[in-house]
Amino acid sequence: MLHIEEPFAPIEPIQLKKIEAAGLQLFIKREDLSNPFISGNKWRKLKYHLLEAHNNRNVELVTFGGAYSNHVLATAAAGAKYKFKTTAIIRGEEVQNPILNLCKIFGMKLIFMNREAYKNKEAWVATQHYNNCYIIPEGGGGVLGEKGIAEMVQKWDYDHVFCSVGTGSTLKGLINGMVQQQNQGLINGIVVLKGAEEMRNEFKCFLPNRYRLHFNYHEGGYAKTSAELIQFIKEFASETGVLLDQVYEAKMLKALINMVDKGYFKKGERILAIHNGGLSGLLSQL
Ligand SMILES: *Cc1c(COP(=O)(O)O)cnc(C)c1O
Repeated sequence: MLHIEEPFAPIEPIQLKKIEAAGLQLFIKREDLSNPFISGNKWRKLKYHLLEAHNNRNVELVTFGGAYSNHVLATAAAGAKYKFKTTAIIRGEEVQNPILNLCKIFGMKLIFMNREAYKNKEAWVATQHYNNCYIIPEGGGGVLGEKGIAEMVQKWDYDHVFCSVGTGSTLKGLINGMVQQQNQGLINGIVVLKGAEEMRNEFKCFLPNRYRLHFNYHEGGYAKTSAELIQFIKEFASETGVLLDQVYEAKMLKALINMVDKGYFKKGERILAIHNGGLSGLLSQL
């Protein structure tokens, strides 16, 4: 039986002048501390995929992603840790970068595929007769991924929970976890993609008063950064000791602080922000 331990991810109170001046309390769930390369939610999402692969006696994991994918790196590191061979199909022309180099160090095989061919990547993998392999969907989501995410949630007493939203699997798992634990509190998803409003349809199965999607904090679009965002990362790190990545968590916390200014919260409210890591993305940009 494969044993996947519960990750170390404590909840820490965060002291920020702006939060205290508004009479609020902010806490961060440090999923980023669980592992430097199997970043927060990616570990949670991989758990049941790895167990399934193990139960099927699959020896190899095959997955997909872009050249800076936290999920691909997490699969490489988790594959090495739990004794699977790993292969990733990477979208786009062959490139080198620190994330992909780390993947190779963890023993992952990389196959580059142009954007056109990438659209049919699953069909291509099926023709390759990968012996005994388990396919993990792009981003690690799906039912098994969301099941792992729901385990992040314990019996909590917060008025608001915040997370960043890429594919939305993390937010879905969080909503399910909050319902299972019978926690009150509004779950806020900060969407980091531009023009992603159609995503609303995927959340219609949840009670509308449980969650809210925020579409105005993408800062120009997925993986787009600005001098202002980098400045925010510096100020946040120097004031709290917590480092945020520029693709997801800095946008989420910048949005949260912006919403304090806009009067979104009521005095006395307790807010929990989930930090899902992604720091290798930031470090590879420095
Ligand atoms: C992948 C990732 C997200 C987005 O998660 P989704 O489930 O795709 O919405 C958020 N933060 C970090 C650090 C990530 O690596």
